[in-house]
Amino acid sequence: MIPQVDAFIGLGSNLDDPLDQVRRALGELAALPLTTRVGASRLYASRPVGPADQPDFINAVAHLRTRLSPLALLDQLQALEQRHRRIRQRRWGPRTLDLDLLLYGEERVELPRLRVPHPEMAKRAFVLLPLAELAPEWRLPDGRSVTELAAGMNATGAIEVLPDTSN
Ligand code: ATP
Ligand code: CA
Ligand code: CA
Repeated sequence: MIPQVDAFIGLGSNLDDPLDQVRRALGELAALPLTTRVGASRLYASRPVGPADQPDFINAVAHLRTRLSPLALLDQLQALEQRHRRIRQRRWGPRTLDLDLLLYGEERVELPRLRVPHPEMAKRAFVLLPLAELAPEWRLPDGRSVTELAAGMNATGAIEVLPDTSN
């Protein structure tokens, strides 16, 4: 059996009540087999990457401890996306739920279906800011910490923390 590994999941939604999509997905991640959810960031609102003619995104990052292999975890994430009736249209277009496997312990995966660490994460404020709440000292393979990368983002105006209205 695989020992427990820390995994970080990036969540995003900009269709069909995105706040609800992300909140529900955080609950569903906590219920995955062989997995516990040990943390979740606050929720963020961000301007879309790529095509700008679409609604803003709600983003968050979840911290899991899992005994699932990287590909088994990806299967679970894709099944959750399907349950949220995600229809894949154009790349970077609007979606009800996007779940990206950002980090899986210190492992690097280079497969057609799965690349870990997520190849774009170091460039994305909507990943780095929530991740910095959960794993500020985590270092990417190039040696830079999440905090360093997040501090380098010039994201003013492009992303904001949502007030906590969950209780
Ligand atoms: P981006 O990956 O730039 O954030 P995206 O999330 O819009 O873009 P998707 O359409 O959700 O891209 O996924 C395209 C494919 O990426 C998926 O079919 C999946 O197999 C693959 N993929 C590769 N690496 C990862 C990863 N780390 N997490 C999730 N999917 C991944
Ligand atoms: Ca994505
Ligand atoms: Ca994705």
